[in-house]
Amino acid sequence: MYYPEPISKLIDSFTKLPGIGPKTASRLAFFVLNMKEDDVLDFAKALVNAKRELTHCSVCGHITDKDPCSICTDTNRDGSLICVVQDPKDVIAMEKMKDFKGKYHVLHGAISPMDGIGPEDINVSSLIERLKDEEVEELIVATNPNVEGEATAMYISRLVKPAGIKTTRIAHGLPVGGDLEYADEVTLSKALEGRRDL
Ligand SMILES: [Zn+2]
Repeated sequence: MYYPEPISKLIDSFTKLPGIGPKTASRLAFFVLNMKEDDVLDFAKALVNAKRELTHCSVCGHITDKDPCSICTDTNRDGSLICVVQDPKDVIAMEKMKDFKGKYHVLHGAISPMDGIGPEDINVSSLIERLKDEEVEELIVATNPNVEGEATAMYISRLVKPAGIKTTRIAHGLPVGGDLEYADEVTLSKALEGRRDL
């Protein structure tokens, strides 16, 4: 099918997004053509700014526009409690729940020998550094309830136990194989409440 080059480029760009096939991409591209120029500019700016201005917090690994992030610097939060998650989206899910007053550590992945992802490929070393400096008493491991998430939880538990830090695993009210970020707030709250020693 023939499109003028600017449109085919736009369609290509949309196709790179997750869950967007060629049909949806072309529908979105033509939608953009009909948008007001100001709105298109705002949209483009939002994309570029999100990419340029966001970085990873050097303490917890969460996405932030200032380093350390607002959660790490919040003195009202309990620094003795750290919830370890796989993805920044999991922090957002936990924060929506509003029950958790500790801090976070984002691994940016999970151990998966099948995919060649080992402990050195996820954000674990900075977690160990944190445990030396901060007054951490409990690590709540909230990795996803699947093979990779469990393997990661076991690895972290073995790693920090010698330091005398309590490690717990959130309860499995969460659907097995599901992602933490998709759990509803009540399920997540119960999973946190029912956490068990690792
Ligand atoms: Zn942080």
